[in-house]
Amino acid sequence: MEALNLLHERAAQLRREIHAANYRYYVLDAPDISDAAYDALYQELRALEQQHPELLTPDSPTQRVGGDPVSDFAPFAHHQPMLSLANAFSHDDVRDFVTRVEKLAGEKLAFVLELKIDGLAMALRYDAGIFQAGGTRGDGKTGEDVSGNLRTIQELPLHLQQPFPSALEVRGEVYLRRSVLAQLNQSRELQNLPLFANPRNAAAGAMRQLDSRITAERRLNFFAYTLLQPNEPILSAPDTQTQALMRLRELGFPVNPHIVTCSSVEEVLARCDYWEEQRDTLDYEIDGMVIKIDSLAVQARLGSVGKDPRWAIAYKFKPREAQTRLREIGVHVGRTGTLNPYAVLEPVKLGGVTVRTATLHNEADIQRKDVRVGDMVIVRRAGDVIPEVVGPVIALRPPEAPVFVLPTACPVCGAAADHPEGDAFSRCTNVACPAQRRERLRHFASRGAMDIEGLGDALAEALVAAHAVRTVADLYTLTAEALAPLPRMGQKTISNLLSAIEASKQRGLARLLFALGIRFVGMQNATILAGDFGSMHALAEATQEQLLASDGIGPEIAKSVTLFFAQAENRAIIERLASLGLDMTAPLRERTPQGLLAGKNFVLTGTLPTLTREAATEKIVAAGGQVRASVSKKTHYLLAGEEAGSKLLKAIELEIPILDETGFFAMLGETLDNHPIADGA
Ligand code: NAD
Repeated sequence: MEALNLLHERAAQLRREIHAANYRYYVLDAPDISDAAYDALYQELRALEQQHPELLTPDSPTQRVGGDPVSDFAPFAHHQPMLSLANAFSHDDVRDFVTRVEKLAGEKLAFVLELKIDGLAMALRYDAGIFQAGGTRGDGKTGEDVSGNLRTIQELPLHLQQPFPSALEVRGEVYLRRSVLAQLNQSRELQNLPLFANPRNAAAGAMRQLDSRITAERRLNFFAYTLLQPNEPILSAPDTQTQALMRLRELGFPVNPHIVTCSSVEEVLARCDYWEEQRDTLDYEIDGMVIKIDSLAVQARLGSVGKDPRWAIAYKFKPREAQTRLREIGVHVGRTGTLNPYAVLEPVKLGGVTVRTATLHNEADIQRKDVRVGDMVIVRRAGDVIPEVVGPVIALRPPEAPVFVLPTACPVCGAAADHPEGDAFSRCTNVACPAQRRERLRHFASRGAMDIEGLGDALAEALVAAHAVRTVADLYTLTAEALAPLPRMGQKTISNLLSAIEASKQRGLARLLFALGIRFVGMQNATILAGDFGSMHALAEATQEQLLASDGIGPEIAKSVTLFFAQAENRAIIERLASLGLDMTAPLRERTPQGLLAGKNFVLTGTLPTLTREAATEKIVAAGGQVRASVSKKTHYLLAGEEAGSKLLKAIELEIPILDETGFFAMLGETLDNHPIADGA
């Protein structure tokens, strides 16, 4: 009895919280919890109701669509209810859906896969090809008549293309492009108006304007996805959703171009994964994929259950945003002395991992977003990108939350921090700062640079703290005696480390240039410069004009290189490295690329069995090719390793040849046997 009471209480509390969230989301367009947090509450309530049907109340949010209409607009009665969509959160949920509907239909089915645009659903009515009225979904039975505001959407047809049926209803999504949101927010910032949190809220707010001129300024867009058309002798209704989408396009509606018909669940899932990876390449937000049974007759037969149709499901992407408390703002000192503020968070699950820290970029960004210690903040994690703090939930700010000020001294060495005009970062002015030393050393030894095995974060920190290494040149005079007192340094470890350091002397000029961490000199530029100048000495003497004559070396890079060599400390380090026997030469390459890969563009993806990305880049550039960041029609080859992601799918789509590492070596006339180690030497 006691337990049942507790469940009753929990269900009532969930209903209250979800009702409150619905109100803020659907009516005020100002949610105060993330969609993922909302979905978690909703799933919990639904599971409770399913296990204990006696907990179900008629007013439960699981029984009704959306929110109550706002009273300022005339009601818009739906002839056919406007439903929501059941959600799938995993591949298994999608498989279950497919099995379930195929069983219900008693046949193998084809599905249409559409992007789930994060906007707001709208119903539009046409008579004799002329736009009559349109309304929001509201509670599914009655929405708000927002016809005036809909007319401001340029691409929404007011007259349909011939031939059209005598009457029809179209449903689709009104949305705001991301680029438009950025512009809107920019001008709102100048006017000191609160910024829109996301395109959906901005679009919903725009549709609710009583003054259509304001709606027009928001430059909304529309995608149509449902056609409700009576069967007519001259223009019969379509049989499938695919045909309906084509018909919508012919009638003059904008229809999303990324729509595919799939005949297997595996294909559906592969497409879902593809778009989950690619979502940021679109200029509008999508939060999932909608999977619909293609046959409209089967759709009609299956009908709906509660507020969701049985014939469709929304596959929701993993949440990229979560809400948590900002405990503290820490400051990390980078390789070039930049003071990088970061957020220390109350741990929160996001996209399958626990997030404890997130970047806050720089001081100006913190001020712009007005992030304060103690705030509830929205944290976002997109793909492999480091989690970032999107902004605070101002409504939940504790009264005493202090405005953040970046320290004026380096938090590690105490030296003054300088903030040059026009630079986004404050920098520690002490080149001997232990934090900078540690970061430089870490980068120098990393796998893509000098590849010194055994020299990771912890050892770099220990070497600097023990004053055993001040500059990277000190690495090459390290002795077993100097290493022995450091933590976790047994005899074997020491001898392995010393051999790895010795071996690194032969990495050659390109790797060394990259390892030195010259601003703007990544592996591609390092290889070009090494190949064009042939030796460290020649490069150090090069003028900006000579540097600019190299492929792809622009003024910013040229300036950074000359500045680097102009500094006495840098020259001293290089001289010492030379005297300690580091190879500072590179074979000269032909100025007009004539290598095996001359004029060929490569894109790299995934992890190759033996080569690092830098080593592969070095080989491509040395053979006259180029490495580009993303796959396009101009890509000649994709070099793909394990766990290749969206670039692989894109290459398949564009029919670009895909190489594995063995194929790549074969192309260069080399064999894998010549490459027992990962340094490309
Ligand atoms: P939904 O967003 O999960 O799915 C239905 C909607 O998808 C449709 O109404 C339509 O607008 C949209 N859609 C986009 N592309 C479509 C396509 N190609 N075909 C069909 N429909 C398409 O359901 P919902 O009922 O609109 O909203 C529920 C969701 O809204 C929740 O899961 C949550 O993410 C969010 N929500 C958040 C809060 C909050 O406080 N953060 C509150 C309420 C709801």
